[in-house]
Amino acid sequence: MNILLLGSGGREHAFAWKIVQSKNCSRLFVAPGNAGTAAIATNVIISVIDFEAISNFVLDNDIALVVVGPEEPLVRGIVDYFISNPKISHIPVIGPSQKGALLEGSKDYSKMFMQRHGVPTAAYGTFTTENIEEGFEFIQSQALPIVLKADGLAAGKGVLICLSHEEAIQSLKEMLLERKFGEASSKVVIEEFLDGIELSIFVATDGKNYRILPEAKDYKRIGDGDLGLNTGGMGAVSPVPFADSEFLRKVEERIVIPTVKGLEKEQIPYVGFLFIGLMNIDGEPFVIEYNVRMGDPETQAVLPRIKSDFLDLLIAMGNQKLDEYTLEIEPFTSTTVVMVAGGYPGDYEKGNKIEGLDGHLTDNKSFIFHAGTSLEANSEVRTNGGRVLSVTGIGEDVEEALQNAYKGARKISWKDVFYRKDIGQDILKLVK
Ligand code: ATP
Repeated sequence: MNILLLGSGGREHAFAWKIVQSKNCSRLFVAPGNAGTAAIATNVIISVIDFEAISNFVLDNDIALVVVGPEEPLVRGIVDYFISNPKISHIPVIGPSQKGALLEGSKDYSKMFMQRHGVPTAAYGTFTTENIEEGFEFIQSQALPIVLKADGLAAGKGVLICLSHEEAIQSLKEMLLERKFGEASSKVVIEEFLDGIELSIFVATDGKNYRILPEAKDYKRIGDGDLGLNTGGMGAVSPVPFADSEFLRKVEERIVIPTVKGLEKEQIPYVGFLFIGLMNIDGEPFVIEYNVRMGDPETQAVLPRIKSDFLDLLIAMGNQKLDEYTLEIEPFTSTTVVMVAGGYPGDYEKGNKIEGLDGHLTDNKSFIFHAGTSLEANSEVRTNGGRVLSVTGIGEDVEEALQNAYKGARKISWKDVFYRKDIGQDILKLVK
């Protein structure tokens, strides 16, 4: 079958890499893609939010499955667009409806959803300019630290962890009255601080059945020791030793089942991936957030561990036949190191030539996934974004996987390249 994949990050390169390995893949198109996807599929210059152009492309190219990588088209309603357009309504789109995407698009909505379905999460209150005074009282009644979150999408920057009541009150004023995060902070969720170890799990669902993919831990800050500014993600490790089978059983019973059943009960169409950010507090799981798509860079660590046919998984999701799909997971460890342009997440240069991409990763122990890269007319690959590419290493254990990831990373270079040197070190200490 012909498939259209939307997106241009490392996550989408990893998706594409898996999809083209399937016997059921005839042609894969990626819109808009990157230099990595160009090497294994056909890139098409269409924006992920230009639904009309996507629809025309799907009809002209006999596309039988559309896979949505990033959240933006989902939050803008691409699935609803397909469902309501008779010419394309028969084509499965992997991603939730706009209502389902609100689980990521609005923190207040997702907290209310969790409450309705008894999913364990931090205690919270939601405030607007209308009841800001109640917000101040709520803050005063809370233990420290206090977490303030802009309700809407704020590119991972809308969460503040305040160490004093005064700081929290000041931040609430800035968010609500001065719209610190624009419209996203016209509503603010104030919640209890959860003190534990963070990890993410990924669920594939067809709206009724589900499969739990391997869990992962990511590294959000720019610097070693998890210091410095927040980024889109600087690395990932899968599996995670503090997610033992007992913990994962609790996650399935208390979180995954009530979430999938809750979506079904509320008649929210959801055929897609659900990324659940969790806190493990002394072996008990609590939800920090839902995202309505796979994570980046977690996908680059998780997908190499999926042994069964990944396109068949997507097809089973699209046909509501996930109950017939057997998910097989590789026992090995996978670690991903993200390589960024110097200066990221602040200002950075684009257009620098990337060296060392060819010919050295032939041992099947490490894989390069492109993100912000562009393929030039003379076949050179140049940097074209902040997070440029990632290298995933696999191995019998974390140590070997890290060796393979860093061995691969060291062979790649461009002007001012930067990557963290401590990905997985915390996990290495835990397992030693
Ligand atoms: P991202 O885009 O990075 O996923 P986000 O803006 O959607 O983030 P959250 O994931 O809800 O926001 O929060 C960002 C980070 O803040 C979390 O990964 C976690 O480290 C921390 N955090 C959020 N809520 C809490 C909490 N209640 N207790 C402790 N830490 C929290």
